[in-house]
Amino acid sequence: MKRTLIFHVCAVLMDEAGTVLPDAYVLVEGHKIRSVGAERPDGPFDLEIDGGGDVLMPGFVNAHTHVPMVAMRGYGDGNALQDWLEKFIFPVEAKWDDRAMACCADLGLAEMIASGVTCIADMYMRTGVVAQRVARAGISANLSCGGVLFAPEFDPDTYSECIVQRALTEEWHGYDDGRILVDASIHGEYTSRADLWDWMADYAKEKGLGMHVHISETRTEHEACKARHGGLTPIQVLDRHGVWDCRAIAAHCVWTTPEDWAIMAEKGVTAVHDPISNLKLGSGIAPVAAMKKAGVNVALGTDGVSSNNCTDLFGEMKTAAILQNGVNCDPLALLPGQALAMATADGGKALGRQTGRIQPGYEADLILVDFHALNLTPCHDVVSHLVYAAHGSNVIMNMARGQVIYQNGEFLTIDIDRVKREVQDYALPLLFGK
Ligand SMILES: [Zn+2]
Repeated sequence: MKRTLIFHVCAVLMDEAGTVLPDAYVLVEGHKIRSVGAERPDGPFDLEIDGGGDVLMPGFVNAHTHVPMVAMRGYGDGNALQDWLEKFIFPVEAKWDDRAMACCADLGLAEMIASGVTCIADMYMRTGVVAQRVARAGISANLSCGGVLFAPEFDPDTYSECIVQRALTEEWHGYDDGRILVDASIHGEYTSRADLWDWMADYAKEKGLGMHVHISETRTEHEACKARHGGLTPIQVLDRHGVWDCRAIAAHCVWTTPEDWAIMAEKGVTAVHDPISNLKLGSGIAPVAAMKKAGVNVALGTDGVSSNNCTDLFGEMKTAAILQNGVNCDPLALLPGQALAMATADGGKALGRQTGRIQPGYEADLILVDFHALNLTPCHDVVSHLVYAAHGSNVIMNMARGQVIYQNGEFLTIDIDRVKREVQDYALPLLFGK
C-alpha cells in the first residue's frame, strides 16, 4: 500500500477540540489517513511532500451543486427568477447531449479541484456521464438525478425517472470502494407529487441510499406548498411520506420553521446552506444560527454556477459567517471555526462519509493553502484567515483519497487544455448556438 508522508505543515485538524498543529506530520496509507502528530513517523515512505510551512486542512465538501451548469456561468443574469429560468436556463438544458455534458462536467470539476474541493453532492441530469467524469477526476461524489413528476399517472416500472434512478444506482453506487455513492433524490416538493415521494423513500430504504432534495428555497415555493397541503411545509409534507427516514440533505432551507428544524434534528436531516446563490437570486437568508441552535446539522454548498457564479468555498464560508453576524446583529452568531466545519466535517457527516477531518481512519482528502500569499500575511489566527481572508486561488495542492490530483496550478487527472477547447468548440455552439 502506498505510504505518503506530508510534513512541514501547520495542520488544521477539524476535530471537536479545534486543534491546529503548528508543525505536523500526516501519514497517508492508500486512500486513508493513518496518523497525525508532532513526531515524524517511521519510514520508509513512497512519497514525501514538504508543505513548505503552509497550512494543511481537510478538502472541502461542496454539499449541494449542479456541476455541468458551469456552462451557463453568467448567462441571463439580470432577469427575474421565473424569466431567468424559462427564457434562459430551461431552453439551454433542453439541448444537452452526453458529449457536451462530459466536457462541462470536467470544466466544473476542475474549477472545484483547483479551489480545494475533494467531495461533492451533485444533482443533475445525464448523471451517468457526470459519474464517469468524477471517476476520472479522482474526487468523491454523492450523485443524484433530482426526480420530478408532473403527470397524474405513475408506474414505477415504466416511469423514466425511476428507470434512471435504478440504472444509476446499479451502475455506480459504491464505485471504487465508495468513492462514488448514489443518493435517491426528489428535485423538490413543487416539481413532484406523492407517488414519487413514496417510491423514492422506499427505494432509498431498500438500497441503503441517502436522499437529496431542494427545500423551501423561495418564499413562493414554501407558501404554495402550505396552501396545497393544509398548512404543511415541504419538510413536513415529505416527512409524512417517509422521505427523511434515511440519511438526507435538504438544500437551501431558507424559509424553514422551528417546527421543521425539530423534525430535521430528530431525523438527522442536514440543511445545506447556499448563501451566495440565495442572495443572488433574491431568495432570502437561511436562519443558519437558529437551525444550528435547534440541533440541525448544517453543511455548505455553492449551488450551480449559473446562480453563484463560481464555486469558491472560501467565499461561501466568508459569506455564510458574515451574513449570520449581520442579520443577528451579533459578531459571534457564526464563528469562523463553525463556518469552516460546515464546509468540511459537517459536510462529510451530511454525505455519510469519513471526510472533512484530519484524523486516523478518515479519507486522505487534504488540501494545502499558501500562507505566504499577500492576502494571508501576516497571520495571527489560521482559522480566521481561512474563513475571512483566503481565496480558492490560494490552494496549491489537492490530494483526493491519497492521490495528488492538483499541484501548483497543474491538473494531474484532467487535460484542462483539451477540456477548454471541447467546451469552446463543441458545447457552447450546441447549447447557445454560438
Ligand atoms: Zn440547487
